[in-house]
Amino acid sequence: MSSGISEPERVATVTSAPPDTKRSAYTGRLAVVMFGSPGSGKGTQSKFLVDWLRIPQISTGDMLREHIRRGTEVGKAIEARMRAGSLVSDELVNQLVYERIHQSDCDRGFILDGYPRTPAQAQEMMRLLGSVGAREVVIHLVVDYNIIIARMTGRRVCPVCGTLYNAISRPPRVEGVCDLDGEVLGIREDDREDVVRERLTQYEASTRPLIEFFRKSSERLFEVDASQDRPETVFGKIQDALASLLDRDPVQLSGSAMAGMVTDGARAR
Ligand SMILES: [Zn+2]
Repeated sequence: MSSGISEPERVATVTSAPPDTKRSAYTGRLAVVMFGSPGSGKGTQSKFLVDWLRIPQISTGDMLREHIRRGTEVGKAIEARMRAGSLVSDELVNQLVYERIHQSDCDRGFILDGYPRTPAQAQEMMRLLGSVGAREVVIHLVVDYNIIIARMTGRRVCPVCGTLYNAISRPPRVEGVCDLDGEVLGIREDDREDVVRERLTQYEASTRPLIEFFRKSSERLFEVDASQDRPETVFGKIQDALASLLDRDPVQLSGSAMAGMVTDGARAR
C-alpha cells in the first residue's frame, strides 16, 4: 500500500464492510436475480448483497402487499383477483417492477427477489433490463432438499416466550425443553415435515422452468452450492461468482468507486 491514499481512511472503510468480504466496489448497472428454495438462506444472502453492493432489494411480494395496505388502485385490483382465486397478472407485476427500477436508488443496480415468477415474466424482464441498460446476474442457491428438510423440521419454538431452537444449529440444553422457562417446545405449522415437503415440491415445480429459461438465455447464471451451514461461506461463493463476472465483463461492471466502498481488491488483484 504505497499509494498516496491515507491509510486511516482505508481502514475505516474496511470495517464497515460485511463479514468475510473479499472484494467490493462494483458499479455499472447490475440486476441480481435471486433464486433459492425455502430454507436455502436466500433472505440472508440477499441482505449480504444489499450491504456489499449498496443497491436496493426489490421484493415484488412486499410491493404487492404495500399496494394492498395503502388501498391504491393497483392494490384494489390485486385484491379483486385474489378474491376471485386467480394470480396477479404478469402484466401488473411487470409494470410494478418497471416503475420501481426507474426510481433513482436503482441507478447502479438492484436485487430482484420473487421476480420473475413465470417464464413469461422472465422474458419480459430480459427486455426490460435491456431497455434500461442493466445486465442480469442470476444466482441460484442450490441446496440438497434433504438438508433443508433436516434444517427446517429440526426447528422448535417455546410456546411461552417464543424462543427458537434448532436441533442442528441451536439445540436447547435439555432436549425438547425451553432453556429459559422449562416449557415443552413445540413445532410451528410451517416447520412440519409434510408442510416443508409440500413447499419444496411447489418451489421445484415453479422454479425449474425459470432456471431452464436462464440456462438458455443468460450467460450469467450462477448455481451456487448453499449447503454449507455458515452463511458467510455461501456468500463468499457468491462474491467469487460476481468477481469472475467482473473479470469477464469489465466494461459493464467497472466504473467510479462508490462512496464508502473499498476499491483496492477489485482492481489491484
Ligand atoms: Zn421459553
